[in-house]
Amino acid sequence: MKYPKLRELKEAVISLVTPAYTSKFPAEPHVPFEGFRGKPVVDDANCVGCETCANVCPPCAITNTDDKERGIRIIRRDYGKCIFCGQCEEHCITQKGVKLSDKIYEMAVFDREKSVEYQEKELLICESCNAVITTKEHLLFMHRKLGPKAFSSIMNLNILNQKLRLEEGQDVSVGIKDQLQRKDMFNIVCPNCLRQIQIKYLFKGA
Ligand code: SF4
Ligand code: SF4
Repeated sequence: MKYPKLRELKEAVISLVTPAYTSKFPAEPHVPFEGFRGKPVVDDANCVGCETCANVCPPCAITNTDDKERGIRIIRRDYGKCIFCGQCEEHCITQKGVKLSDKIYEMAVFDREKSVEYQEKELLICESCNAVITTKEHLLFMHRKLGPKAFSSIMNLNILNQKLRLEEGQDVSVGIKDQLQRKDMFNIVCPNCLRQIQIKYLFKGA
């Protein structure tokens, strides 16, 4: 028992003569150290609404809801649940969509809804089965990243065609009627429907 007491006494004397590790915040402004993980800040212009950050967020602070009626994805970020792990920043596919700030750390609020932020992104919906493919921005981002290789996907070609407005002034829309036909490949269809068309016509011919 004698030695532990001496050790504690030594620690007490050392702490009396060394500066405090704690800051005087909020009486004095806090100066975050290098690499401090504060509030995740979203850059909407560089976020494509791909869902990756929602999938890696451990406490599910980021959630997505797809509103097919309005054709939009609503991204909800609840910073009241955030544990500042930095997974969203690390796995962001654009590397610029979200970054943890080293300046914003005062996040206490009386109303929990005030810790929630929303974003909206336009959806790409299959014209045949009404399934959500992804967001338009996500597909265009992949297209930019893949370069000419993206043209191997007919879906990318269709989206790019819309983007460049090559169809302006002419009605190139072929529409989807009762059953999927070969011409329907030139509409916006999900990979499942595209596969069905390809299998159907691979064995059947034109
Ligand atoms: S820092 Fe971690 S907990 Fe917070 S939103 Fe990002 S992934 Fe989720
Ligand atoms: S991973 Fe990046 S681009 Fe994708 S939704 Fe999250 S912030 Fe946006």
